[in-house]
Amino acid sequence: IAEAPPTSIGHPKQLYLLFFAEMWERFSFYGMKALLLAYMVTQLKFPEPKGYAILGSYAALVYTMPLFGGMMADRFLGYRKAVIFGGILMSIGHLIMALPQGWSFFYGMAFIICGNGFFKPNISSLVGTLYAENDPRRDSGFSIFYMGINVGAAIGGLLCGYVGQRINWHYGFGLAGIFMLVGLIVFYLGKNSLQHRGLPPDVKNLKKPVFAGISTEIIIYAASLLVIPVVVALFNQYHFMDYIMFGLGAVSLVYILVMAFRMDGMARSKLMAALVMIVFSALFWAFYEQNAGSLNLFAMRNVDMHVAGTELPALSVNNFLPPAWVIILSFFFAWLWPVLNRKGIEPSTPLKFGLSFIFVGLGFYVFYAACHMGTETGLISLTAFILGYFFIICGELCLSPIGLSMVTKLSPARMVALMMGIWFFASAVGEFLAGKIGALMSVPEEVVNNPVLSLPYYAAILSKIGLWSLGIGVLLICLSPLIRKWMADVR
Ligand code: GLN
Repeated sequence: IAEAPPTSIGHPKQLYLLFFAEMWERFSFYGMKALLLAYMVTQLKFPEPKGYAILGSYAALVYTMPLFGGMMADRFLGYRKAVIFGGILMSIGHLIMALPQGWSFFYGMAFIICGNGFFKPNISSLVGTLYAENDPRRDSGFSIFYMGINVGAAIGGLLCGYVGQRINWHYGFGLAGIFMLVGLIVFYLGKNSLQHRGLPPDVKNLKKPVFAGISTEIIIYAASLLVIPVVVALFNQYHFMDYIMFGLGAVSLVYILVMAFRMDGMARSKLMAALVMIVFSALFWAFYEQNAGSLNLFAMRNVDMHVAGTELPALSVNNFLPPAWVIILSFFFAWLWPVLNRKGIEPSTPLKFGLSFIFVGLGFYVFYAACHMGTETGLISLTAFILGYFFIICGELCLSPIGLSMVTKLSPARMVALMMGIWFFASAVGEFLAGKIGALMSVPEEVVNNPVLSLPYYAAILSKIGLWSLGIGVLLICLSPLIRKWMADVR
């Protein structure tokens, strides 16, 4: 950050409040996710395809709820109340998961899902409120925020991964819960520094009794709690998720298209540009999210974790590496983009999106090549594993933080929170697809303990992911001049 260009120096101090609140929230979120699949497969003894289906459904719902949480905040609650309510639900969810009781597992996840819907999109939108529409610091503000996300994710993955895998799975989940509470407290104590930002659009209306003396605010909270048993039921009948994701995907696409066509020319084409990039981002996450899925099991089974005579805990390593690379490479990209900009050759947002697929493709090919070299022992080298993630994270940094900022710039002001919800919904679709792709890497029971035999199951699909990602990258690069044109004056 020290070498960042002059335009990114001097951010509003509230950015650091949001940074730390989000940092601890992501600690808990990624700490828990690091354990999830391995816990289901090794402890609950779920067959692997079921493990992938539940993981995919959980992560899909986690990122679907922001659609509703974003909408409720825009219309009624304002961002601040939404973040606090979401934080409370997430804390309860993580702490429930620390209980060893059978019922607690699905309920814990359901609370996290509902809570995330209120927390995640609205804390991101709050970052957007710190900058005027064309403030040049907006992008770097989001990059700093993204750094907070990843500091939390790195420590969370490392610690919860270690505690869960090596000491006790439930202590790992519990640790996540404690730090979610820390995030919530940080936000609660600091929220007044946000001044007028993120307050409810109409407090009187929100507090006014509308039904049997109950206010809109309480109705929203109560309705959200009712969603929890529905989510639990869905986990028990996870096949329904196919219809839900397809239905919601179609509805949101049509809704945005209708909204776009009601707007004037410039606003419409900007929204269309955002929409196209959002659709591509879903595919990006489908590949990327193998990290929290298949690559967890791959790391446990087929990556040589021995370093200097000790065996590292695979879940910690696999979940620490991506955010750690994000932190390191963020500095590089924070330096690179302005340099390219000054030379007039900074890639446009859609071109960066295209490059992100190329990087992810290269990353998966590194894993694949390493599989080829490791056929004798069934283990790939840790160095190759680290290198593969290097490329994948270059891809992430060309898409994810840029996408957040892009959404706040290309959407009309009154639709920002909704569009933020749709941006995260693309992650939901991606996560769901990631579960399906992961399931293709299910390893039969009889070979799970034999790395030589399990390796080919991974190698075959890793190479396909690489190929698809490169192909989509090329397509998007070809489309990028057109999308760039639709973006009009937005850079
Ligand atoms: N890693 C980022 C985060 O947790 C992006 C996640 C996403 O959009 N899928 O915020």
